[in-house]
Amino acid sequence: LYNMVQDLKGNIRVYCRIRPPFNEETKNVIDYIGDDGSLVILDPSKPQKDGRKVFQFNRMFGPTATQDEVFKDTQPLIRSVMDGYNVCIFAYGQTGSGKTHTMSGPSGGSIKDVGINYLALEDLFEISSRRKDIINYDIHVQMVEIYNEQVRDLLVEDSSTTKYPFYIFSSTSDKYFQAIRSCASENGLSLPDATMHSVKSTADVLHLMKLGGVNRVVSSTAINNRSSRSHSVVTVHIHGKDISGNILRSCLHLIDLAGSERVDKSEVTGDRLKEAQYINKSLSCLGDVITALAQKNSHIPYRNSKLTLLLQDSLGGHAKTLMFAHVSPEGDSFGETVSTLKFAQRVSTV
Ligand code: ADP
Ligand code: MG
Repeated sequence: LYNMVQDLKGNIRVYCRIRPPFNEETKNVIDYIGDDGSLVILDPSKPQKDGRKVFQFNRMFGPTATQDEVFKDTQPLIRSVMDGYNVCIFAYGQTGSGKTHTMSGPSGGSIKDVGINYLALEDLFEISSRRKDIINYDIHVQMVEIYNEQVRDLLVEDSSTTKYPFYIFSSTSDKYFQAIRSCASENGLSLPDATMHSVKSTADVLHLMKLGGVNRVVSSTAINNRSSRSHSVVTVHIHGKDISGNILRSCLHLIDLAGSERVDKSEVTGDRLKEAQYINKSLSCLGDVITALAQKNSHIPYRNSKLTLLLQDSLGGHAKTLMFAHVSPEGDSFGETVSTLKFAQRVSTV
C-alpha cells in the first residue's frame, strides 16, 4: 500500500522549489541546492560569509526541475488518497514565485507542462481503472476561492449570469461553520453550496479547470490582480465501494495560496490594506495550525480562518500535508525569500 512508505516519513512535509530566473543577468541569491533537501542562500547586500543562510527541507527542486520530476515525488502521497487518507497540498510563496506553475501549469491552459492538479487526477483515474474489479471509485471535484475570508464557487457554469461577487456565505456568519460541520458529518467532507462535479476522464478535469480558471480571471479584472490575492482550493472527493460493500471516503485538497508578500503599510490604504491584512492573517493561521499539529499540541486553532476551518478534517489525524515553499531567485526578492523559507522551516518537522 502507498501509505506504508508514506507513514514512515511522517504526516507533514515541506518541499522547496526555486523558479528559474527571469533574467540571467540579475543577481541570484541561490548558492547551493543539495540532494538531501538542503538549501543555502546569500544576502546580496552582504559580504559572502555574513550573508549565508542555510535551510533544510524534505526535498529541494532547483530551477531546472521539471513538472514531472516534481510530480514524481508527490505521487505516493496523492495515491494514498485512494486508500482512504485525506491529503492537503499547499503552494506557498510570494506572487511570481511559481505557485500556479506548480499546481496548474503555465497560464493558457495548454496540455504541455501541466501541473500537479491535472497530473494528480490523471493518476487517480489510472488507479481507479486498475482496481476496478475490486473497488468501484467515484471521483468528484469542487473548486472555490477564498478572498477576504469569503468563499466563492469557481465552478458555476455561466458566471456572467451570476451576480458578482457570488459568495457562498458572508464572512462573519456562524452559519458557515455549522454548514461545514454538518456537511462533514453527513457525507464525508464537502463545501456547502459549492457545486460538485463528477469527473470520469482527464477531459472532464481539463474542462473544469478551464472553467475555474476563467471564473477566477473574470473577477481579477474587476479587482486589481485578484487571483494573487486569494486562495484557490480544488477539492477532489473520492468515494470507493469494494466488493464486500465497504465504503471508503477521502479528500485531496490542492491549494494555490494567496501571495505571501508583505505590503508596506505606509503605502497601501483602503481595499488593498484590507486584502493584505486578510492574507497575512489567514497565512499565519495556516502556519499556526500546521505548527501545532507538528508539535502534537492538544489545541489546534482551526477556527481562526476560513481556510483552516475548511480543511479541518484534512489537516491532522491521519491526514497528510505537503507544503511547497516557492522561491524567486532574484536578489531583489531576498527579503521575501527569507520570510518564505522561515515560514516553511517553521511548519517543517525535519
Ligand atoms: P505565482 O502563482 O506564485 O504568482 P506563477 O506560477 O504565475 O507565480 O509564475 C510566475 C511566472 O514564472 C509565470 O510566467 C510562470 O509561467 C513562470 N514560472 C514559474 N515557475 C516556473 C518554472 N518552474 N519553470 C518555468 N517557468 C516558471
Ligand atoms: Mg498564481
